[in-house]
Amino acid sequence: MKFQFDNSYARSLPGFYTRGQADSVPAPQLIRLNRPLAAELNLDPDALDSPLGAQIFSGNQPPDDADVLAQAYAGHQFGHFVPQLGDGRAVLYGEVIDRLGQRRDIQLKGSGRTPFSRGGDGKAAVGPVLREYIIGEAMHALGIPTTRALAAVTTGQPIFRNAMLPGAVLTRVAASHIRVGTFQFFAARQDTTKVRQLADYAIDRHYPGLAASPHNKYLDFLTSVCASQATLIARWMHVGFIHGVMNTDNMTISGETIDYGPCAFMEAYRPTTVFSSIDHNGRYAYEEQPAIARWNLARFAECLLPLLHDDDKTAVQLAVHAVNHFTDTYFATWFSGMRAKLGLSDPPAQDDLNLVNSFLALLEQNHADYTNAFRDLTRQEEIPYLADWLPHWRARRPNRAAMDAINPLYIARNHKVEEALAAASDNQNYAPFEQLLTVLADPFTERPSLEAYAQPAPPSNTPYKTFCGT
Ligand code: AMP
Ligand code: MG
Repeated sequence: MKFQFDNSYARSLPGFYTRGQADSVPAPQLIRLNRPLAAELNLDPDALDSPLGAQIFSGNQPPDDADVLAQAYAGHQFGHFVPQLGDGRAVLYGEVIDRLGQRRDIQLKGSGRTPFSRGGDGKAAVGPVLREYIIGEAMHALGIPTTRALAAVTTGQPIFRNAMLPGAVLTRVAASHIRVGTFQFFAARQDTTKVRQLADYAIDRHYPGLAASPHNKYLDFLTSVCASQATLIARWMHVGFIHGVMNTDNMTISGETIDYGPCAFMEAYRPTTVFSSIDHNGRYAYEEQPAIARWNLARFAECLLPLLHDDDKTAVQLAVHAVNHFTDTYFATWFSGMRAKLGLSDPPAQDDLNLVNSFLALLEQNHADYTNAFRDLTRQEEIPYLADWLPHWRARRPNRAAMDAINPLYIARNHKVEEALAAASDNQNYAPFEQLLTVLADPFTERPSLEAYAQPAPPSNTPYKTFCGT
């Protein structure tokens, strides 16, 4: 089978990857094909929702026109620079042009060892694969830029983590897999030619309007990436999403969310919330995410310095200025989104910021569920803990219908995600996974039979901990 690949990365960027292949696995079975996404990619959902699809998406039988490769990248992991990471358990099949004319990567994750595997086995377990599937689709339905799952398969090959677990492969679709860490890989080797080549490629692919920039196009590129990330992180904050492992290798140049590992949605509003069991210092806590993104973008800017100006000092000044812009864009996006969540009409009133912040402070003091608090505003007249605040809010004549259209009722609740993953991993029961995907595909419309999906976790589930999917 052919996917009509057009592999610009392989073609344009020799030296940025190693060619390889996926492992063959004993008994691939399709857990799920994302049929609407397949159609969006100009693939044939009927042909792929089949044993042949399982062969393709397990890595056993790549499409005939695939050019299987593992991409090189580096990255700061929890603040420490690692000069070589790369696709240690993933391979790119190739790029397709989707129905909107957008170029999209199709990558297998969990497909076996590559030259970048270091000590790892190159594999993935079914739980983390389905988590990535669920959260990516949830983010997509919330309108947040994200990589998406095209398929999940089990391999028929158990893998060892803390115990033996069913092995699985995720097929991931991304605007591209170019990361801040991809630039760092070549910058750390002082290979300015390759940094420039990568920047030119990324500009063409993600910010084509800049290619003919009459200004400094690399500076415009930096500014644009900062803006995309500022917008993205603001959107995360609006929905209470905590990525959990915002290393520079997990930050895309396209502005899509990538690498759903120990991520989770916050329930009770508490800015210091951390879920990841490996994030001992709270580096990637909810409230730290904007500052961390900015820190990561400063690392990105460092990679681009030689392209920004011949004079080092001037280059640094330009970079600092561009990265500082992140804060303005982030705040503007965050604030306008929070105003929208509270149904506040334009133009902003003098007191709106205070209204937002005092609302959040009350949520925190009362351990209120972040998601439900916004829906409660439109469905409850009396909310005791907000009694003093409500008159100020009502004086602004909030638009309730507009609020319900953007404040989700259904998020990927941690206990529901765990339930779905456990059923799949322990009993090959994919019904809870399927049901959760159905719920999350439409997060805004109340459906009476789905009340359980709009409830916070029972107290026995908290504090919730997530583990890296490696
Ligand atoms: P992640 O935590 O998934 O973002 O991965 C960080 C780095 O570790 C990347 O270079 C991955 O390719 C690599 N990695 C993660 N898990 C494995 C594994 N099981 N085998 C080989 N490499 C891995
Ligand atoms: Mg990663």
